[in-house]
Amino acid sequence: MHEAGLARAAVNAIIEASEGAPVRTVVLAAATGVDIASATAAWQAAAAGTSLETTDLCWQRATDRLRCFACGHEYDGARLDPCTACGGNGLVVAPADELAVISWTH
Ligand SMILES: [Zn+2]
Repeated sequence: MHEAGLARAAVNAIIEASEGAPVRTVVLAAATGVDIASATAAWQAAAAGTSLETTDLCWQRATDRLRCFACGHEYDGARLDPCTACGGNGLVVAPADELAVISWTH
C-alpha cells in the first residue's frame, strides 16, 4: 500500500528528530490524493512498538500551489480550485508533498 511507505518515512523522521523520546502529538499534512483513513492505519502500523506508539495524530490537508491561466495570480488550493482573484482555471505549479510532518511535541 502506498500510504505505508509514506507513514513509515514520517515515523522514522520523527523518531530521529525526537531522538527516541516519547512524542505526545504529531501534526501531519496529507495531499488531496492521500486517503486519511488509510494513512492513519499505516501510521499506527508503522508506529507500533516505537516511541510514537501512543502519539496523538492530527491531520491537515496540504494545499497545492496553483497559477491562474487567465491572470497569472498564484494561490494555494486543490488541483481544480478556481483562481482566488478572477475565478479562472489554474495550473498546479508546485504540488504539495503527499505526506508532510508539520509539527510534533513532547
Ligand atoms: Zn485569475
